[in-house]
Amino acid sequence: MITVKPILRQVPRWQRELAHAIHDPAELLRALELDPALLPAARTAAKSFPLRVPLGFVARMRKGDPDDPLLRQVLPLAAEFEPVPGFVSDPVGDQAMQAAPGVLHKYQGRALLIVTGVCAVHCRYCFRREFPYAEVCADADSWQPALAYLASDTSIREVILSGGDPLALSDRRLGVLLAALDRIPHLKRLRIHSRLPVVLPERVDEVLLKLLAQIRLQSVLVIHANHPREMDEAVQAALMQLATAGVTLLNQSVLLRGVNDTAATLAELSEALFAARVMPYYLYLLDRVRGSAHFEVKDAKASAIMKKLRQQLPGYLVPRLVREQPGQPAKTPVW
Ligand SMILES: *Cc1c(COP(=O)(O)O)cnc(C)c1O
Ligand code: SF4
Repeated sequence: MITVKPILRQVPRWQRELAHAIHDPAELLRALELDPALLPAARTAAKSFPLRVPLGFVARMRKGDPDDPLLRQVLPLAAEFEPVPGFVSDPVGDQAMQAAPGVLHKYQGRALLIVTGVCAVHCRYCFRREFPYAEVCADADSWQPALAYLASDTSIREVILSGGDPLALSDRRLGVLLAALDRIPHLKRLRIHSRLPVVLPERVDEVLLKLLAQIRLQSVLVIHANHPREMDEAVQAALMQLATAGVTLLNQSVLLRGVNDTAATLAELSEALFAARVMPYYLYLLDRVRGSAHFEVKDAKASAIMKKLRQQLPGYLVPRLVREQPGQPAKTPVW
């Protein structure tokens, strides 16, 4: 008799974990023993941008604490539907910047490829929460125009895979894409912007390590962790494997009120990152996307935090505080 077992075994573990991510606000509140009074607002806010969080990330949250810094990043709140002047749907002006379908070419020598709209986690502060992925994504069947653009512009030395989360692509699709990029002679570096190694470290498996080891391009992986408690043992082990495989590891964070807006928290994050061979890269001021105003840290406070951080850490562990400004040729440093 034919059973489905052998087929199930072929689905990588990370994809099975992803399939079990929490989508239902009631389930999240139950798992964390939180007040059901939070539910109606969570349900309403989740209608415009659904809840999504892998169980392994939920396991790093404190039970019974509605202000837990990891929970705050993912729990839909009533505050999201209060309109706040200055908070808009496309704060970084990306939708107007496409050089080819799915290609953002704003900076010299680097082009960013939006390869999927899918993420393993939905971050409430994300500036892409309103991005029209369905219209924009260079998806598997239509990567051709994006690849043709990259091949035609010899000034591009680095391709950045972004999204969504590029590591949400299946190994097969990622493999096809990497092979195609590897064949473009003027490309030197492949950069991947991904939150998966942090929220779903199972993604860093033998197959992924092999894919990255096979290519000629030098690879850089920019992870996204905001709080030291995101860096548990499984995450550290996954990152160490990537580092051992020769991947350069960087981290970017967003400065978020109630999550990481103290020098002590950021110092601890830098220490935890470095212990896993990751260098702090950027600390972003919030992009003013609709629904995220309650996360904003004012410039003056951000600068004061940075001043303290510089006193507490070696210079190489201090991330660069930057803001994304439409029309600028690079991220804008903030002091
Ligand atoms: C942020 C960004 C980059 C990368 O900038 P770096 O300063 O090199 O990290 C590249 N392209 C786009 C469109 C970006 O938004
Ligand atoms: S793009 Fe990054 S920050 Fe935005 S929801 Fe996805 S993982 Fe979170």
